[in-house]
Amino acid sequence: MQKKKKHAGNLSLLGGRPCLDFVNTLDWRGSDQPQEFLETYPDLIAWSRHAGTISRQPAGRITQRSKSQLSKQTRVLNKAIQLRESLYRIFSALADGNAAANKDLETFNKFFSRTMINSKIVKTPDGFKWAIEEDQANPEWILNPLIRSAADLLISKDLKRVKKCGDPACGWLFLDTSRNRSRRWCDMRDCGNRAKASRFYKKKMAKRK
Ligand SMILES: [Zn+2]
Repeated sequence: MQKKKKHAGNLSLLGGRPCLDFVNTLDWRGSDQPQEFLETYPDLIAWSRHAGTISRQPAGRITQRSKSQLSKQTRVLNKAIQLRESLYRIFSALADGNAAANKDLETFNKFFSRTMINSKIVKTPDGFKWAIEEDQANPEWILNPLIRSAADLLISKDLKRVKKCGDPACGWLFLDTSRNRSRRWCDMRDCGNRAKASRFYKKKMAKRK
């Protein structure tokens, strides 16, 4: 059976938090050939819709192909990558038991402070919650839910549960919500299975000697 081709709009969401899933849009970070899933602005929109971080297409922006529109889209994509990579370095350092670099936290805080302008507190039946307003004048607003998600995780108790996939070549991050904190793989059916097969093969070869 042929595996369905992976793209931004169908990528696995196994991170447990939108900010970690966002980090995982670069696959095989630890290998010679990392795979980028956010190559274009439409990829970023497709992923955001798929991950549920935006509920609808930013108004009329994606189909317009004017020069100024394209340069705006490129700027947003570049910002998204800058945000993603700073988040990767922060969470990856923490998952390894190290401190996050000040430089990365500064980068993140620049994003975060801008997000506050579009944030408000709203009433819900269960109490109050943060809400993020769309800012059509600034297309970067689509990154705000991811910035918010990262900020929430950084100050939560769950931060200790952020882990890296057991396959160093994979590089995916996830939140280990298992009771005994035993999750090792981003996906048992993927990296977990590959490791199992490789262990089995090595055992078999060792027996032959
Ligand atoms: Zn993995």
